[in-house]
Amino acid sequence: MLKFTDTRQAYPPKRDAEDRRRDFAEIYQAFGEKAAALQSSRCSQCGIPFCQSGCPLQNNIPDWLKLAAEGRLEEAYAESSATSTMPEICGRICPQDRLCEGACVIEQSGHGTVTIGAVEQYITDTAWAEGWVEPVRRGPDNGLSVGIIGAGPAGLSAAEKLAEAGCSVTVYDRYDRAGGLLVYGIPNFKLDKAVVGRRVKRLEEAGIDFRLGFEVGRDAQLADLTDRHDSVLIATGVYKARELSCPAGAPAVPALDYLTASNRMGFGEAVADFDSGILNAAGKRVVVIGGGDTAMDCVRTAVRQGASSVTCLYRRDRANMPGSAREVKHAEEEGVVFEWLAAPDAIMGSASGPSAVRAHRMRLGLPGPDGRQAPDIIPGSTHEIPADMVIAALGFEAEDLPTLFGHPDLTVTRRGTVKVDGPSLMTSVPGVFAAGDIVRGASLVVWGIRDGMDAAASMLNWMSAQRAKVAAE
Ligand SMILES: Cc1cc2nc3c(=O)[nH]c(=O)nc-3n(C[C@H](O)[C@H](O)[C@H](O)COP(=O)(O)OP(=O)(O)OC[C@H]3O[C@@H](n4cnc5c(N)ncnc54)[C@H](O)[C@@H]3O)c2cc1C
Ligand code: SF4
Repeated sequence: MLKFTDTRQAYPPKRDAEDRRRDFAEIYQAFGEKAAALQSSRCSQCGIPFCQSGCPLQNNIPDWLKLAAEGRLEEAYAESSATSTMPEICGRICPQDRLCEGACVIEQSGHGTVTIGAVEQYITDTAWAEGWVEPVRRGPDNGLSVGIIGAGPAGLSAAEKLAEAGCSVTVYDRYDRAGGLLVYGIPNFKLDKAVVGRRVKRLEEAGIDFRLGFEVGRDAQLADLTDRHDSVLIATGVYKARELSCPAGAPAVPALDYLTASNRMGFGEAVADFDSGILNAAGKRVVVIGGGDTAMDCVRTAVRQGASSVTCLYRRDRANMPGSAREVKHAEEEGVVFEWLAAPDAIMGSASGPSAVRAHRMRLGLPGPDGRQAPDIIPGSTHEIPADMVIAALGFEAEDLPTLFGHPDLTVTRRGTVKVDGPSLMTSVPGVFAAGDIVRGASLVVWGIRDGMDAAASMLNWMSAQRAKVAAE
């Protein structure tokens, strides 16, 4: 260990940008055994591991790095899977620069962070390949039944923990596949769908009952599920897309419609709006409006679909962008042009399609209450960017769940997210808990996993207490 003084930091080999532009395969190749061990050995084994504090799952990173450095991969896998239901997924898509790697002490001392995410992915991909990933160990049947609404990372993590505790678990999801945004939001070039599929299969094999194509609010109300189960978890994510506020002579494509269609194409499905051209960027000048992870996924998908040009319009500058800096770099390598400090004034065109985006130049003013510098329009700075397709990627808000679920007693915050009682994650409806984006607002996969595991523990406590109460009466 402590080899950071004489071993240079290295990530797994990244495919050449020209090559990447032609397909949707993941852009990083896997670490080899030697490289993974060498990179792990750069860890300084700090007394106080800041990387662990930077990880929402509090993963015991120094221990599994040491085991990986010594070639003890099966033990490294046991250690890394003890705190995470999806280590290989987090290793691929966590914005590590803002989490574990950002907090790494040797990064702070200027030596370059240990490549924690890449090692985490390597350890668990190896575990799958070697057959070390065991079936979910179901506890003895405890006679408790739980319903989970939403099969995203939060719902799936809760399902796994509740099955381990011996509950009978039913997961309801309105999509036709489990995985939530892991399947229909995040593109294959960041996360291959087979990686998600094998996790879902493992849960199915554990006897978790997936009711897909089942929309709560349409096929049942929340009260039907509370009648049916001892406890219910709401893990529905946030899906109400923020809309453009500027005049639009032509329609803009909602980002998630665009990404979902592309992901469905990846499964080999026929998608009518792709075939008609509405959701296909091939040969088009594409302008994506927004600066988050969703915008980055849209620009890079458009490149792969064969757009003739792809421009990202963002009203703040690079330093103030909400998306991961690493993703911006990948997009630039793949040919995306960034118009920083530019905001749409109007979408030009007709009902048959856009012709351009008229945009203002912006400058950053004083920081607002959230600490971020507010963008102001520079008067007289409008200019036009030619566009045949405009994609709006301005983020997501919560749907109106109390109305959708026919349950006005379900309390929500001013932002529409479900209000929970602090760390217990219980909502205003007794026995109903909530986790993931529907509580936090649009967030990260790793936080969904954390919340799902925490909610499962709280649900078990609550159900046991209820049982004890009934027994005492
Ligand atoms: C395009 C995009 C890219 C992203 N990239 C990253 C990234 O690189 N790294 C990262 O960490 N995070 C990323 N995120 C964020 C991350 O995907 C989310 O924070 C995470 O998926 C939230 O998990 P969740 O389980 O709360 O919700 P979701 O993953 O949204 O899952 C919710 C599930 O609930 C289902 N559902 C909703 N309503 C109902 C209903 N009424 N009845 C039944 N089922 C319902 C949905 O169909 C869905 O399957 C990205 C998000 C987007 C949109
Ligand atoms: S889960 Fe995410 S933040 Fe935690 S160690 Fe893995 S990559 Fe880092």
